[in-house]
Amino acid sequence: MKKHNFYAGPSILPDFTVKNTAEAVINFAGTGLSILEISHRSKEFEAVINEAQSLFKEILSIPEGYHVLFLGGGASTQFAMVPFNLLNKKAAYLNTGVWAGKAMKEAQGFGEVVEVASSKASTYNYIPKGYSIPSDADYFHITTNNTIYGTEIREDLDINIPLVADMSSDIFSRPVDVSKYAIIYGGAQKNLAPAGLTFVVIREDILGKVERHIPTMFNYKTHIDGGSMFNTPPVLPIFAALQTLKWLKENGGVLGAQKRNIAKAGLLYQEIERNKLFKSTIPNVADRSLMNVCFVMNEEFMAHEKPFLDFVTAKGMVGLKGHRSVGGFRASLYNALPIESVEALVKAMQDFEKSIK
Ligand SMILES: *Cc1c(COP(=O)(O)O)cnc(C)c1O
Repeated sequence: MKKHNFYAGPSILPDFTVKNTAEAVINFAGTGLSILEISHRSKEFEAVINEAQSLFKEILSIPEGYHVLFLGGGASTQFAMVPFNLLNKKAAYLNTGVWAGKAMKEAQGFGEVVEVASSKASTYNYIPKGYSIPSDADYFHITTNNTIYGTEIREDLDINIPLVADMSSDIFSRPVDVSKYAIIYGGAQKNLAPAGLTFVVIREDILGKVERHIPTMFNYKTHIDGGSMFNTPPVLPIFAALQTLKWLKENGGVLGAQKRNIAKAGLLYQEIERNKLFKSTIPNVADRSLMNVCFVMNEEFMAHEKPFLDFVTAKGMVGLKGHRSVGGFRASLYNALPIESVEALVKAMQDFEKSIK
C-alpha cells in the first residue's frame, strides 16, 4: 500500500527526487561510479552544485549581491553562526517557538539579545504583532514557519534593520521577496532534500562588521569565497536538492507550489472546522501554517485520540502524531505531498466521525 507521508521532517520528497537519487547511488551521470563514491571536485559533481545554486537563485528570484551556500551542521548551527558573524552589541528576536528560542539562546553568547515579543505563555499558538524593534540592533531574527506549533509568517516584513529568517520548514512553499532579507537559512530536510544539507542565502554586504575572530568554518566569508567547496560539502543531499529544484521548476516554481499549498491546507483546515471531533490549535486563521497543520480532539472526544491515530495508521498514513509539547495531531503538507494524501486524511476524519456516537 502506498503510504501517505505526513512526517514533519525529514519528510516527503518528490518521487522524481527519490528515483533520480536512487539511480545516482548506483550510477551517477554515466560515470560508472556511485554518487556516494565520487570526488566533490570532479567535473560531474561541480556541474551538480553549480546548477543547484543557480536553480535555487532562479526559482526564488534572488537578486544580485546574494550568495547561496550549501553547508553542513543543520539550521541549529546557523543559530550560532548568525550571531557569530553579525552580532556586535545587540540583536532582536521574535520568540515564536522552540526553534526561535534556541536561536535566541545561542545569540546570548555573543551580545545582548532583545526578545521583542513572545507567544510562549500560550504555547506559541499565535504570531505576536505590534511589537517594536530596537533601531540600534544589528539584526532582527524571525522563524517564518513554526514547525512544531503550526504558525507561520507569510508576509515579508518591512523593517529598518537587517532581517534574518529561519525558513527551514517553508522555504520554496511560496514566493519570497528576498531583497527584504539579509540572511535566509534552513535545514533542507523539510522541503528540499534529505537530512545533511543546510542552505544559507546571504547578502554579502552584511558581513565584515564584527571585530571578533571567527573560526574558519563558522565564517560565512569562507564559504562564499570557496563556493561552498571550502571543505567537502554534503554531496548526496546536494544532488537530491537539485532534483527537487528541477521538479519544482517543472511544476510552476514557487507560485505553483503556493497555489497547491493553499489548496491542500484549505481542504484540511475546512474539515477541522466542520468536524465535531476536532479543533485547530491556532485560533487566529491568518497565523495558521500552510505547511504544518496542528489540531487536537475537542475535550469531550479526547478518549478517541489514540483510536483515531490507529485508524489513520491502518489506512497507510504516517507521521500524524502531534509534537509532544502540543499533543494531538500534526499533518505536515510540504510541497511534495500530493493533494490525494490530504483528501485521504479528510475522508478518514469524516469516516471516523461517523463511527462515533
Ligand atoms: C527542523 C527545524 C530546525 C532544526 O533544523 P536542524 O537542521 O535539525 O538543525 C530549525 N528551525 C526550524 C524552523 C525547523 O523546522
